[in-house]
Amino acid sequence: MANGRSKFIIAVLVISILFLSVFSGRDEEHSTGKKPVLAEEMGTLPQTPAPNSTGDVQRRVPLVILVHDVSPVYREELEEILDIVSQYGLQKNTYLFIIPDHAGQNDLRENADFVGYLSSLREEGYHIGLHGYTHEGEEFNCTSEEAKAKLEKALKIMADVNLTPEYFLPPRYALSEEAKTIVLSHNLTIITRDSLLRPDGTEIAVTNREYTWYISPFKLPFKLREAKKDYMNTDGVFYLSIHPKAVNNWAGMEFLKRFLEFVIKESQESLLTAQL
Ligand SMILES: [Zn+2]
Repeated sequence: MANGRSKFIIAVLVISILFLSVFSGRDEEHSTGKKPVLAEEMGTLPQTPAPNSTGDVQRRVPLVILVHDVSPVYREELEEILDIVSQYGLQKNTYLFIIPDHAGQNDLRENADFVGYLSSLREEGYHIGLHGYTHEGEEFNCTSEEAKAKLEKALKIMADVNLTPEYFLPPRYALSEEAKTIVLSHNLTIITRDSLLRPDGTEIAVTNREYTWYISPFKLPFKLREAKKDYMNTDGVFYLSIHPKAVNNWAGMEFLKRFLEFVIKESQESLLTAQL
């Protein structure tokens, strides 16, 4: 009896620990502490299949992948993430948001090797976006004058390394109305938490989510289920945001593989259904 009771107590403890692990872990928050239901990016998606540099056909899946915080600081993490993205042939669906001078100590002009890496990614079909200037604080939640100065310094660095961005994702999604006007006037499309703003003034709502903010293995099945449901319920293009380092643990990388596999399988099945 004592043995049976002990087993029962152990089972209750194990279940309690699992329960707490699943529901009390760090959630995917950005540095602002807000919910991860991120914003979005590029509005257009692979509408028409086009051959890429390797001769493959671009994936016709309604998915955009937004890689935040692209800087020399996260080189190893980026390689690990993009190896997976490339394995699934989703280079053209993927947008790299680059920090031109991360923390004021990682000017791209002094990181030729990293610039070479970014250039080769662009050759493969990855898109180039801009993610602030130094990414310090809410740097684009500022006045017109400040926004103009920072943006022009950022664009100068990008031009000097021959990486011209078409998209802008403000660090921490913080963007004042004045800064927004400045960014649009430089012919950049802005991605906010829930919309895409084009330089011509058009704005479209988008669905942008992040599921891999330092998730534990216990959260993996729940995050996958949530992501698949969100993806299936999204009309049009679905945006998946990823932060280097936050995604680079076992569960995060496993999430990425399984989710991309799901998206590709779904798109193939829907094409098949359409033919029938
Ligand atoms: Zn960022």
